[in-house]
Amino acid sequence: MKVSIISENCIGCGQCEATCSDVFKIEDDGVAHVVGEVKDENKEDVEMAADGCPTSAINVENA
Ligand code: SF4
Repeated sequence: MKVSIISENCIGCGQCEATCSDVFKIEDDGVAHVVGEVKDENKEDVEMAADGCPTSAINVENA
């Protein structure tokens, strides 16, 4: 699974980081970045974060 953030759509609400801090972090620029790998242990959290993003800024590709 590959995950990326569409930065222009991110409003920096922090929901993704709260759901899966292994993978998402709000950086100094005020938007979320992917900071870790998606692994079997956290992929459900990544999907939950993507589903919960209020602006659909998280793009998940199932490879
Ligand atoms: S949940 Fe969406 S809008 Fe909120 S910080 Fe994460 S990527 Fe940005």
